[in-house]
Amino acid sequence: MYSSSLFILGPCSAESEQQVLATAAVIHDMAPNALFRAGLWKPRTNPGAFSGVGEKGLEWLIKVQDELGMPVATEVATPEHVTLCLNAGIRHLWIGARTTSNPIMVQAIAETIGATNEVTLYVKNPINPDIALWLGTIERFKEAGVKNIVAVHRGFSTLYSTAWRNAPVWSIPMELKRRYPDLLLLCDPSHIAGEATKVCEIAQEAMTIGYDGLMIECHISPDKALSDAAQQLTPDALGELLQTLPARSKNIATDNELAGLRQQIDEIDDALWQLILQRLDVAQQIGNYKRTHKMTVLQSERYEHILTHRLAWAKEHGVSEDIVRQVLEAIHAASIKKQV
Ligand code: PEP
Ligand code: MN
Repeated sequence: MYSSSLFILGPCSAESEQQVLATAAVIHDMAPNALFRAGLWKPRTNPGAFSGVGEKGLEWLIKVQDELGMPVATEVATPEHVTLCLNAGIRHLWIGARTTSNPIMVQAIAETIGATNEVTLYVKNPINPDIALWLGTIERFKEAGVKNIVAVHRGFSTLYSTAWRNAPVWSIPMELKRRYPDLLLLCDPSHIAGEATKVCEIAQEAMTIGYDGLMIECHISPDKALSDAAQQLTPDALGELLQTLPARSKNIATDNELAGLRQQIDEIDDALWQLILQRLDVAQQIGNYKRTHKMTVLQSERYEHILTHRLAWAKEHGVSEDIVRQVLEAIHAASIKKQV
């Protein structure tokens, strides 16, 4: 559908006509092919927070579309939002993380949009790292007949605090792409990073991996923004970010050099899996010992020791602590299962 990368840029929320038009104009100048984003109905965590200007902002978005020729996208969280947007002439709609997590609302929205190829629907991942919920939401829209669906990775709320507002957990979008190779996948580095200074790093990582584009928040004066002030980029910072994105091709041709490196990876994986099997075998022996001595399987202090030691090791070797923790958790869970 798109010949090159797809960019959806604009403020977290539409706040005033002047803010919407001024932001759109400067973005359009630096990225003429980009879509403009702005939320009208904001599902906020806290009841007192700014919850969007609502319906009256539709007119401002339509002005952006008509005056700049820039297609606009906004979030829909109820069937009424869908009807209002479609009647106003908005054809790019996104489903926010909180709505993706709500199958009854998703079903109602899907039935309201109905079978169409006139709407492009962007489906953000659910708040929690639950790939089934993300897939289920995409399936509901497919079954309703929505033809153009794009997935948006905006990070996940996890049990542990990480360097990010929402941990990327890159394995989940990769699994989504494995299951739906033809589905376009965008990254929303703003909601992952949570801080303007960290947005660029995530954006570059996503484009290096091979995402099909980005959704990025940009505000003419981020310090005055009524929502997500900390993570919105100034137009200048957005311009710089767009300049630094890596140009990579999706060429899948393989030469001898790449084939050789892949062979090494396969050999290392064989050795790694042999070691994991050995580890599980020892875990089984420990399980037998605990059974004989009537000890419980989970010994929290021992696990805490292994985890702390390995995270310190990760830091020392410059390996991501998040990744080391995930691998260790998976291995530990397999050991516990073996012992039980
Ligand atoms: C947003 O895009 O401003 C938003 C609320 O995003 P999310 O649903 O990813 O939290
Ligand atoms: Mn936001």
